[in-house]
Amino acid sequence: MVSIGELYTNVKAILENAGIDTYRFDAQCIMEQAFGTRLPSILTNSTAAAPENVMNQVREMVEKRAQGYPLQYILGEWEFYGYTFRVGEGVLIPRPDTETLVEQVLDICRENQLKAPRIADLCSGSGCIAVTLKKELPDAEIYAVELSEKALPYLRENARLNEVHINIIGGDVLSGQTAAGLCGLDIIVSNPPYLTGKDMTMLQTEVSHEPQMALMGGGDGLDFYRTITPLWRNSLRDGGFIAYEFGLNQDEAVSSILKENGFDNIQLRQDTAGIIRTAAGRKITEEMHNG
Ligand code: GLN
Repeated sequence: MVSIGELYTNVKAILENAGIDTYRFDAQCIMEQAFGTRLPSILTNSTAAAPENVMNQVREMVEKRAQGYPLQYILGEWEFYGYTFRVGEGVLIPRPDTETLVEQVLDICRENQLKAPRIADLCSGSGCIAVTLKKELPDAEIYAVELSEKALPYLRENARLNEVHINIIGGDVLSGQTAAGLCGLDIIVSNPPYLTGKDMTMLQTEVSHEPQMALMGGGDGLDFYRTITPLWRNSLRDGGFIAYEFGLNQDEAVSSILKENGFDNIQLRQDTAGIIRTAAGRKITEEMHNG
């Protein structure tokens, strides 16, 4: 017989030996998922035999995790900004870095007294940005644009799960036709793919299981910013905003792209790790931009 306490100890040992730095946390999540309850209450029965079916479930999850499969995909859901999102192969896992982007958009709305802003989230993926904005700004009109057929079901499910109505658009953000479908927006927000060609050759095992199309931003990682900024500029009202997330050391390049395309008042923000992670700019009026 394997007791519940022994099972827990084994799970931690296997994950630690597999080189998972966060093995304690991962072991806890796996136990909680299999037992369907929180760890302290699982361990009140630590000398009891672990039920066969639960043990099989734990074994399966531990095997995957030990091979570097993302914990978030194993659990099937993950928290972002205090809300729960379904995740799996086909969507980028919501990262805490992206909460910085959400906060920046919320601050723009507050500072400019936008009570019912029209906002488009480009490359929406799991919908963590679009859904969170709608939760935080119930009067906003939110559009979530996503190309991937694999991601769209997650986006719909996450809106349903969080009980919000957002407008989900299946389309390519790099196409003029998609951009032409939306106009008069107050804010465009996007966490587009931004990894460089070099980054893509050195992905962490976990990240290599995430969709390439959500990660790969071209040779220097900046393809999406270069295309989206002029293309979607027309969908913004004068004085509207673009807010972008980007990767390490891309702040200057993204700021330049915004300035070159007629955005000023560029505001940068650091994420919780101290990396400059987001930039927002304000669309200057047509005459000023051209003249
Ligand atoms: N932050 C992700 C990573 O480092 C990349 C996300 C993206 O390209 N938008 O893996």
